[in-house]
Amino acid sequence: MRPTLLNPLFTPVTSLSGVGPKQDTLLRYLLDRSETPRLIDLLLHMPASVIDRRARPKLRDAAAGTVVTLDVTIDRHRPSPARNARAPYLVYASDETGDVVLTYFRGDRSYLEKLMPVGSKRYVSGTVQMFDGILQIVHPDRVVDEAGLAKMPSIEPVYPLTKGLMLGALRRAIAMALPKIPQLPEWLGPDVIRRAKLPSFTEALTRIHLPEQPDDILPDHPFWRRLAYDELLAGQLALAVVRAQLRRPAGVRNAGDGHLRRKVIDALPYALTASQQEAAAAIASDLGQPLRMLRLLQGDVGSGKTVVALLAAAAVAETGKQSALMAPTEILARQHLKTIAPLAERAGMRVAILTGREKGKERKEILARLAAGDIDLLVGTHAIIQDDVVYKSLALAIVDEQHRFGVRERLALTDKGDAVDMLVLSATPIPRTLVLTFFGDMDISELREKPAGRQPIDTRAVPMDRLEEMIDAVGRAVDAGKLVYWICPLVEESEEVDLTDAEQRFKVLQQRFGERVGLVHGRMKGPEKDRVMARFAAHDISVLVATTVVEVGVDVPDATIMVIENAERFGLAQLHQLRGRIGRGREASTCILLYKEPLGEMSKARLKVIRETTDGFRIAEEDLKLRGEGDVLGTRQSGLPGYRIAQPVVHAQLIAQAREEAASIMRENPKLEGERGQALRMLLYLFERDEAIPLLGAG
Ligand code: ADP
Ligand code: MG
Repeated sequence: MRPTLLNPLFTPVTSLSGVGPKQDTLLRYLLDRSETPRLIDLLLHMPASVIDRRARPKLRDAAAGTVVTLDVTIDRHRPSPARNARAPYLVYASDETGDVVLTYFRGDRSYLEKLMPVGSKRYVSGTVQMFDGILQIVHPDRVVDEAGLAKMPSIEPVYPLTKGLMLGALRRAIAMALPKIPQLPEWLGPDVIRRAKLPSFTEALTRIHLPEQPDDILPDHPFWRRLAYDELLAGQLALAVVRAQLRRPAGVRNAGDGHLRRKVIDALPYALTASQQEAAAAIASDLGQPLRMLRLLQGDVGSGKTVVALLAAAAVAETGKQSALMAPTEILARQHLKTIAPLAERAGMRVAILTGREKGKERKEILARLAAGDIDLLVGTHAIIQDDVVYKSLALAIVDEQHRFGVRERLALTDKGDAVDMLVLSATPIPRTLVLTFFGDMDISELREKPAGRQPIDTRAVPMDRLEEMIDAVGRAVDAGKLVYWICPLVEESEEVDLTDAEQRFKVLQQRFGERVGLVHGRMKGPEKDRVMARFAAHDISVLVATTVVEVGVDVPDATIMVIENAERFGLAQLHQLRGRIGRGREASTCILLYKEPLGEMSKARLKVIRETTDGFRIAEEDLKLRGEGDVLGTRQSGLPGYRIAQPVVHAQLIAQAREEAASIMRENPKLEGERGQALRMLLYLFERDEAIPLLGAG
């Protein structure tokens, strides 16, 4: 139960006067909530900039285009003439150095006369402009008298808005919410506060909304930093609490004596790279611990993750237990099986596949063998987590390309056994800072070296108006026996539109290359897709036109050329993934990025990065830098997914600090007891990371 102290912050915004159903709808949209936002949601909406009204020049010195607060005498009103109501209402004012015109479109006469009686002294704040040689302010933001000036904030925050929501209305709501912040206990240790020079939570929140200096609202200044740190600590602490619960029953170990692993390694036609060996050793060590494994294995496409996963499964099979490998698509599942099956067979491991395609009697048989413990490793798609799929003793869940799966699927898989170890494979190198925020203290193995013998990829950007020339070049390559991927543009989110484009390109290329062109797209059924891919691999077709369906992981080592149309529309991670399809065999490869002009700054920067490097980890870092924040995992949110205040680049260091502090809290006070413990629980409730609190018991 949330402490009652926090209730005022969790009351709906509609409890504020002036916030009705219409504002409710707008605020839901703005704050990305499906229900009425609470005051805390409003208060955690950070300003984007400020308006600084401190400049108080004489009229003679007022610079056009700047925000000023003028000290003037009202000289005369000129209402819109009756015959031309669209002409603005003008108010003439002056000081001893010059004149200014205050312009109001559709100005209300009685209101304006009351606001600025002729002869009165007023302070007028707004952006000055020069119009026909005359200084003017169109719709001043503020017009106040001496008493009003004393109350007028000289620095006002400006917030991200949504259409229909007025800045003034949002500011008023926030101003009403601020005094509702209760007296909160301090949850940070005194040393942290001292070291990082952080203000209190309440002071930080207040100063963000009532800045005294323009810098007060900047993300890298103490006020925002404090809030970001609190948010990050809440996230890290919640993950740490959950992680601490992952102990297995005493005595359970999931790694055996190594005999199967040795057989797998002996069956390999190549030597493991050093980083593959390291990863396999780290995994085996995790499996042998009385704690559950939660490990991320990161490596570019083609870096050799599958064999490492197989070694993990072999270690588990040595103890007589089972593993499951779940891939996001059928193509990928079959690809894994193809790599794994021959090696597993030579080692005497029993492997099976289960996807949507195995049906009826075949499926029944697989399920029966699985339940009897006659399968050591089950490879498949979502099909392996269906309700009626029962494992005799699932001990290891391997999830490939994790961000395509939700947490729900991962848990569904681990729920199929007791204290199941988890290995996540990702071909999207995620910068370490982000890994920490998503997975907390998930352990990480990286496959940074490419397996020996990989050839470099020559990547070039070519404008679309050289399309014909590119088709000619592809023709020469085809004549020389090469295999070419032709990736069609990602037009919209819609597969349908992608398809039309791909089909058109297919027709154009068919006219040129006839039978030598094939097409794969997402609408095709599994077997149909496999058939086309197989014909490509067998050199029956030389040019494969594809939507982005050429999945991560698909392996046709002979393919050495890739053309990506409208490359400017793809994200960096996507380009990198796509390009990973080539450069897998013994021959050097070429990637052509066809782009439409004119290129935006972002597209230009992205194409430059992709031309310069094939190192996925570097690309991920550059991606993060280019965006500053956001969409590394394809989630269209700003900032860190799941975080409102913390930003990946600005607060990268805080992420690490919060992680360390969470770890030290778990060491010293794992049940969050005593005064500090209570305060930390308050923090978890405040940022709604309290799922973990029931696990702690009463403090
Ligand atoms: P990933 O899953 O990381 O994209 P894979 O595991 O599919 O990569 O491996 C890609 C290809 O590289 C496979 O054909 C695999 O047999 C091969 N391979 C893996 N490890 C090595 C290695 N150490 N030396 C040479 N080839 C390797
Ligand atoms: Mg793979």
